[in-house]
Amino acid sequence: MTNDNTAPASGSIMVVGGGISGLTTAIEAAEVGYEVFLVEKNPYLGGRVAQLNQYFPKLCPPTCGLEINFRRIKDNPRIRVLTLAEVEKVDGGPGAYDVTVKLNPRYVNEKCTCCGDCAAVCEAEVSNEYNFGMNKSKGAYLPFEMAFPARFVLSPQIIGTDDAQKCKDACQYGAIDLEMEAKSMDLQVGAIVWATGWEPYDATKIDNLGFGQYDNIVTNMMLERMASPNGPTAGNILRPSDGKGPESVAFVQCAGSRDENHLPYCSYICCMASLKHATYIRERYPEAKIYIFYIDLRAPGQRYEKFYKKIKEDENVFFIKGKVAEVSEDPASKNVTVVAENAVTGEKVRQTVDMVVLATGMQPTAANAKLPAELNYNEDGFIINDFEKGGMFGAGCANKPADVVSSNQNATGMALKAIQTLARR
Ligand SMILES: Cc1cc2nc3c(=O)[nH]c(=O)nc-3n(C[C@H](O)[C@H](O)[C@H](O)COP(=O)(O)OP(=O)(O)OC[C@H]3O[C@@H](n4cnc5c(N)ncnc54)[C@H](O)[C@@H]3O)c2cc1C
Ligand code: SF4
Ligand code: SF4
Repeated sequence: MTNDNTAPASGSIMVVGGGISGLTTAIEAAEVGYEVFLVEKNPYLGGRVAQLNQYFPKLCPPTCGLEINFRRIKDNPRIRVLTLAEVEKVDGGPGAYDVTVKLNPRYVNEKCTCCGDCAAVCEAEVSNEYNFGMNKSKGAYLPFEMAFPARFVLSPQIIGTDDAQKCKDACQYGAIDLEMEAKSMDLQVGAIVWATGWEPYDATKIDNLGFGQYDNIVTNMMLERMASPNGPTAGNILRPSDGKGPESVAFVQCAGSRDENHLPYCSYICCMASLKHATYIRERYPEAKIYIFYIDLRAPGQRYEKFYKKIKEDENVFFIKGKVAEVSEDPASKNVTVVAENAVTGEKVRQTVDMVVLATGMQPTAANAKLPAELNYNEDGFIINDFEKGGMFGAGCANKPADVVSSNQNATGMALKAIQTLARR
């Protein structure tokens, strides 16, 4: 046993994606002595977990878990964080990769104190993508209160406008640089871990479920943002059409998942997510009726099974085994009717509710934009790890649909695989 954590490092590791998986790989590798470049395309770290209201099984706010990781990063000089950054090109092979990384301009430098004066004078508003476009933010903004790095961003949409100049003039710290330009940097690394995560499946592609056509149909990730105190409705779950609290909510499970026309696989997490969402609704609306339409309910492992059992005790949560075939809207009330065949009784079920939540699945980021490296993917876009070849590995949800715990385990394993690549040089 030794307390010396400066292992003989030969070369560096690049981690692409700063979600919970990328953070884990980066920290685990750095804490045993390796130099790590953490490349994240967003202006902040944390990935999708940073968008959740609470996370199961403990239902704690994600900020507590993320904060610990951010502190470990701050305390570790071996990790170099590059935000607003994307890999453009990868050459070479295991043990010796040449990587070109593009850094997009933030227009705000490290002198930023997060005082907010720039946002106060900025009149332009831009769509708030952190909240899935459900509200707007100022053209000069902090992505969210606990964002790391804690530094404002100027939207490229205001650059060249009077607003940008007003922001610059308002900043007493000389932190705004309107001349910032995109630049490239070349890095040599021995191994690359791709932790590029997932995107919510595009619900507008599921024609029969009415998303985008009817106001009161939202997705599970939109519900996460609505339930979050820093979300578009300040933590209130409200019907988009009239801002009223819903008295009844239906969840449509497997929305686009386990369907050959969309995502043929099970997304692993969306049953648990809806059970968690039932607790969000119950907390706010003690009398609300909650209908969960499912094909199979998947609550893997003992803890999740316990969670499921607890929700089942609620007499106003109804589980209906049946695939939803269609939804329709009453144009006057904007209520939504969900139609399914009950697989147990064989009867056709029609349930009218105030609001519908689609439990859409996770699609790997690489399914829609292949990564600029020689990687193998399965037919759904998840990275297949080739441990024989080594050198580059997919971690977390870039590799398979997973919860945070499994993503962390997988990401820790990939830190080890990356280290082995360097040790074998
Ligand atoms: C509705 C819903 C609720 C959920 N709730 C829970 C829960 O309560 N508990 C739980 O355990 N799990 C939950 N999950 C699952 C959880 O979100 C995932 O396990 C987790 O996000 C996986 O983290 P990741 O780092 O692999 O991917 P991500 O969180 O997607 O992070 C990937 C990161 O990579 C970045 N990136 C992508 N492409 C590039 C690129 N080319 N270059 C640079 N950066 C890139 C992204 O910007 C992002 O920051 C939920 C999922 C859903 C759908
Ligand atoms: S950029 Fe300047 S004005 Fe804006 S928050 Fe940072 S320090 Fe304050
Ligand atoms: S986790 Fe549940 S809702 Fe999600 S795809 Fe699997 S069975 Fe369907």
